[in-house]
Amino acid sequence: KRLIIAIDGPAGAGKSTVAKLAAQQLGYTYIDTGAMYRAVAWQVLQAGLEPDNKTVAALAASLDLKLTYVNGKTAVAVNGRDITEAIRTPEVNRLVSRVAQVQALREIMLTLQRGLAAEGGVVMDGRDIGTHVLPNADIKIFLTASISERAQRRWQELTAKGYTLALAELENEIKTRDKADCEREFAPLAAAADAVFIDTTELSIQATVEKILELCKE
Ligand code: C5P
Repeated sequence: KRLIIAIDGPAGAGKSTVAKLAAQQLGYTYIDTGAMYRAVAWQVLQAGLEPDNKTVAALAASLDLKLTYVNGKTAVAVNGRDITEAIRTPEVNRLVSRVAQVQALREIMLTLQRGLAAEGGVVMDGRDIGTHVLPNADIKIFLTASISERAQRRWQELTAKGYTLALAELENEIKTRDKADCEREFAPLAAAADAVFIDTTELSIQATVEKILELCKE
């Protein structure tokens, strides 16, 4: 059977890294739902729009979003333009949770995401996958790590890309984003009642992936 695996958790817990590797080893497709919300946040920035509910809902209604999964990498395109790298900037990081609060957008994403998972053989990561998008997933994981570890990881990622940021500031931004994601009205960040918790603070990437692969064998 080709399984449906849902991985949720706060920012920087390692979701996309381990989801990608688990998908690779299982021969499954990896679906990065955060990239979908980031694409809309990027559009807001790009067009110089105010991120209010009405504007975001209008963008969502005419959304031309394509996710392609090639050689273990997810490419994201909006209106035919490749924005895979452009959605990983500190500006998008700061805006994305605001955009992701809009119910009309979440409803459109829900339909897209369920469609992408319909045939099974997928690892999908996000904030509301096990609770809301794929409540019948075969395996649900909730990945966590300490806030300082998560900030450290994001700092390394962004520094490697040439951004100059203070670690403390990044830690605050992550806290703010997690708070917004946990407290929003529609499909907030939460662990499903039947999710398996994995704390990755002291766990290597490979050890985390192996835990997930173990769960797939049961
Ligand atoms: O996973 P990533 O950090 O790329 O997600 C970016 C943002 O997108 C999250 O902070 C959250 O606001 C939003 N998101 C969401 N629901 C998901 C995935 C991401 O609201 N399933």
